[in-house]
Amino acid sequence: MLPGWPIFKRRRKVMTYVMTKPCPVCKQQLTKKAPTDTVQCSCGKHVWQG
Ligand SMILES: [Zn+2]
Repeated sequence: MLPGWPIFKRRRKVMTYVMTKPCPVCKQQLTKKAPTDTVQCSCGKHVWQG
């Protein structure tokens, strides 16, 4: 994943477009494209559920 691109998309304040947050465990940036997505962090210790 290229650093910075999720942040670039987050500049648009369209809430349903792309959502990002850092993993609370490893601080890696997580991205989901829909509010209902479930994203598992690659560290395996955190799952971001919609
Ligand atoms: Zn993580």
